[in-house]
Amino acid sequence: MSKFEYNFSLKDYNTFNIDVTSKEFFACSCENDLIDFLIKINSPKDIFVLGGGSNILFTKNFDGLIINMQNSKIEILNSNNDFVYVKADAGVIWDNFVEFCVENNFYGAENLSLIPGTVGASPVQNIGAYGTEAKDIIFEVNAVKLINGQKQIFSNSECEFGYRDSIFKNSLLGRNLVTSVVFKLNKKPIFNLEYGNIKEEFEKSKQEINLRNVRNTIINIRQSKLPDPKVSPNAGSFFKNPVIDETLFGIISQKFPYLISYPAGEGKVKTAAGQLIDKAGFKGFKLNNVATHSNQALVIIKTGNASGAEIKYFSEHIKKAVLEKFGIALEPEVNIL
Ligand SMILES: Cc1cc2nc3c(=O)[nH]c(=O)nc-3n(C[C@H](O)[C@H](O)[C@H](O)COP(=O)(O)OP(=O)(O)OC[C@H]3O[C@@H](n4cnc5c(N)ncnc54)[C@H](O)[C@@H]3O)c2cc1C
Repeated sequence: MSKFEYNFSLKDYNTFNIDVTSKEFFACSCENDLIDFLIKINSPKDIFVLGGGSNILFTKNFDGLIINMQNSKIEILNSNNDFVYVKADAGVIWDNFVEFCVENNFYGAENLSLIPGTVGASPVQNIGAYGTEAKDIIFEVNAVKLINGQKQIFSNSECEFGYRDSIFKNSLLGRNLVTSVVFKLNKKPIFNLEYGNIKEEFEKSKQEINLRNVRNTIINIRQSKLPDPKVSPNAGSFFKNPVIDETLFGIISQKFPYLISYPAGEGKVKTAAGQLIDKAGFKGFKLNNVATHSNQALVIIKTGNASGAEIKYFSEHIKKAVLEKFGIALEPEVNIL
């Protein structure tokens, strides 16, 4: 059932557990309710679409309307010998969708196991892990315009996906709400085990390589590396891995030969934000009630009752130090409000 509230606490709606309120809050359980609601309000209010709040840092109360999709259906639309098309509502928990795929022997989503958040945010963020990105399995995205509730369909190429990026974060920023996503998954076993230590883990455990075991291996690796937001509130990687000019990186790496880089398209390389933060001296660094995670400096955790503004200040302190040391500007992956 859809529900509208005033001065709504967002504490349980963001993984940093920041205790702020939204002036208006609409929890919406079906697309038709949403469209009726958007037509009724008929005004260009300050609207923000909130999923699971696992990539958000609230620094103050939100003085507008927050819409939170809670639709939760997963359905198989059609299938042929090679592929299956699965539609998942925006409000579906992302990892429940991955589990659905694994349970049904649909290949392609398994490397994205255990990423927090909802299906609705997956194309917005183009979530990625272990060499796979949401864009690899997204067929199309169903959305509505916030201004008038008009339905829209975006093909994969129309989403203009990039590294943790899409059209929804650029030219369409704040204009659309994703209501559901159609995924195209493989029916034949194709695995992507090249990234990180997945292969190593399989060699160690001598397990058979199958869909369930790949999912479980990724879950185990993630749980051993990343802090659980329920124990240490966080929003995952705070910064993106900077993509910089290859020539510039050549100059920087003469001074810091230990810096890791990966090819990132013509004339560009991707550097590792975690390593930059670590080498700038911030691994396990703590300031009042905010710290970097001891295993992964890229993750900022709240260790006590820090406010969103304190966490933002902490992140800016790190950003400044990295810029001063390496001349590389970090850009937040987390959406700061
Ligand atoms: C411990 C931890 C580990 C993480 N690991 C990874 C990882 O490996 N890879 C990765 O990519 N991310 C990772 N993240 C980040 C996060 O899980 C993803 O960004 C996720 O997609 C956020 O989903 P959400 O539903 O919580 O979105 P929110 O945080 O609520 O919102 C994120 C953005 O999406 C927009 N949005 C949300 N729902 C909709 C919708 N229905 N329509 C339109 N816009 C919408 C919001 O407006 C906002 O701009 C991690 C986070 C945590 C806490």
